[in-house]
Amino acid sequence: MTGFNTRAIHVGSEPDPVTGAVNPPVFLTSTYAQDGVGVTRFSDYARVDNPTRAALEICLAGLEEARHGVAFASGLAGEDALLRTLAPGDHVILGNDAYGGTYRLLTRVFGDWGLQLTCVDLSDVDAVRGAFEESTRMLWLETPSNPMLNVVSIAQLAELAHERGARLVVDNTFATPYLQRPLTLGADVVVHSTTKYVGGHSDVVGGFVATNDDALAEQLRFHQYAIGAVPGPLDCYLLIRGLKTLGVRMERHCSNARWITAFLAGHEAVEHVFYPGLAEHAGHDVARSQMSDFGGMVSFTLKEGAEKARRVCESTTIFTLAESLGGVESLIELPAVMTHASTTGSMLEPPANLIRLSVGIEDIDDLVADLTQALA
Ligand SMILES: *Cc1c(COP(=O)(O)O)cnc(C)c1O
Repeated sequence: MTGFNTRAIHVGSEPDPVTGAVNPPVFLTSTYAQDGVGVTRFSDYARVDNPTRAALEICLAGLEEARHGVAFASGLAGEDALLRTLAPGDHVILGNDAYGGTYRLLTRVFGDWGLQLTCVDLSDVDAVRGAFEESTRMLWLETPSNPMLNVVSIAQLAELAHERGARLVVDNTFATPYLQRPLTLGADVVVHSTTKYVGGHSDVVGGFVATNDDALAEQLRFHQYAIGAVPGPLDCYLLIRGLKTLGVRMERHCSNARWITAFLAGHEAVEHVFYPGLAEHAGHDVARSQMSDFGGMVSFTLKEGAEKARRVCESTTIFTLAESLGGVESLIELPAVMTHASTTGSMLEPPANLIRLSVGIEDIDDLVADLTQALA
């Protein structure tokens, strides 16, 4: 197998056999001419398949070292398709630091549908063990998590899930396959919001589910066309383009984040810095063993509290005050009232004085200067 960057650039993007174009064409078509009744060359309808979408699926599945990858119109659409492979009455265990939208989907959409949910502190192995029920079908985790940057052992939790006949689902949005490949560590399913690092330029919304399980992949394919939350060909092209630079972007995200955590850790206004690259981070050793670097997301709390945190978020000039993450530009936000507002009152609610940074790939001196003036 060739290296990650080589595959990111070439797999699924072989030169077009007819024209030699080096990029996959963007197939803006809703239907396909048939050579006879029911005789198709590629597919019968673009909700079912599209060559640009297929190119994306081949490339990203390959990067996750998965046999199958299925693209969706958003991360949550992919999660929705995955959860529909369960049945009413089935039980899911979710990390208590999951993305707010995943929690909302599980409680407010699939709760009514009949899924049972338990949220648990994944760093407490006994608590995870105790959360399993006869009907548990999935253990769902994020590592590093959003926004607390907690890290848990994929291999250990995969073993625990498998002992109880459940699948381990890993949301790999934060790490990306460049830093971590959960299927190689024992996970059964990887989900992505490709909106984030995979797209990488804050210009597209998308989702992805990857697995080596043939039967599960078939169900996901069915849901992809039967429910229809499919990405358009232009979106797929943007994601293919994003993948080609994923490796170099992640290197820069990681190195900028390293500098910023060092700056924040030494700042008098800062109470605590959450970043798996810090030696004192509770998940540092696990992160070192299952990730090749620590990523571009950094969270921190301020000694002065929520009001000051709000003012800092409103005072940066290079860091843009915005939700989302993973783009080339740096973003700052207040999770408790922005990205994670849907977790208010639950055990997933982040501290009110927690600021989350999505560290971009700008010049590090400019980023540090911006945070310096905003914290002053
Ligand atoms: C954004 C995000 C999602 C949801 O993806 P969308 O593309 O916004 O639907 C899921 N998980 C994580 C970790 C995310 O950051």
